[in-house]
Amino acid sequence: MQTRIIDGNAIARELRAGLIRRVAALAAMGVRPGLAVLQVGNHPASKIYVRNKMKACGEVGLYSEHIELPADADEWTLLERIRTLNRDSRIHGILVQLPLPTGLSAERVLDALAPAKDVDGFHPINMGLLAAGSPRFVPCTPLGVMKLIEHEEIGVQGRHAVVVGRSNIVGKPMALLLLQKGATVTICNSRTPDLGAMTSQADILVVAAGRPRLVTAGMVKPGAVVIDVGINRLADGKLAGDVDFQSMLGTASRITPVPGGVGPMTIAMLLENTVMSAERASASGGSS
Ligand code: NAD
Repeated sequence: MQTRIIDGNAIARELRAGLIRRVAALAAMGVRPGLAVLQVGNHPASKIYVRNKMKACGEVGLYSEHIELPADADEWTLLERIRTLNRDSRIHGILVQLPLPTGLSAERVLDALAPAKDVDGFHPINMGLLAAGSPRFVPCTPLGVMKLIEHEEIGVQGRHAVVVGRSNIVGKPMALLLLQKGATVTICNSRTPDLGAMTSQADILVVAAGRPRLVTAGMVKPGAVVIDVGINRLADGKLAGDVDFQSMLGTASRITPVPGGVGPMTIAMLLENTVMSAERASASGGSS
């Protein structure tokens, strides 16, 4: 079987072109979508992620603010910054870069975000709306995966989707989105006794475990669609996904590479959620 490699970079580029048109339409009404990224401490990976997000904002014409607080910042200071951003009419999306340094409660920090500006979709109200089937903001990575699936015209209804990982950021919202599209969904986690017995039932397999090359060709059904969310830095400095990419060629019908698969879609969806938030604010007369 010929395995088709899904080009996340190309699809994200297409989506960004659509966003540039929407940003221009907002500009004609005097609105510029704005994103604030709050970073606490100097986590090296976070620095790279934040830099990429700010660059992507600039490329589609968004206003962006990078707010850096020292690693020893107290929670009150961080919450005050969030409250100020909640009131700032130039800002339509607020993102708190995770993980936070120890001592700061991610739960309390996310709770403080105005749900209407929570472009990551991690606020409990937005998580609840997603679970109820009427989402306001969908977390960027699973939303990006759904856009890839849509773009590739992969049928979801009636298929068996298996999601490896149950985090609030990826696995859980991913499973909910697939469920809402009519898939039969199995969710696996680190305690699943025989992972291969589960993954080999999948028509659509989404892997978000954070374990390099966890899933190999022997664990998938021939013809399955394999979406690899994992990004792992190996000892030699190279990046690897959670799926053994080389072994899948000839077995999977389609697969996303790492890098160049889900990663670029995540950033595109952050821009999409910010533009959508600005459109909503402008439709409701400026208050978001
Ligand atoms: P996490 O550590 O919060 O969750 C991992 C999940 O995988 C857990 O639910 C755990 O139970 C499960 N798991 C771990 N080992 C397993 C095993 N052997 N068998 C079955 N399940 C197992 O991680 P996360 O934030 O959900 O991220 C997962 C991966 O996705 C990481 O590699 C992360 O870097 C990557 N990621 C990529 C993007 C992107 O834009 N492409 C975005 C977010 C996360």
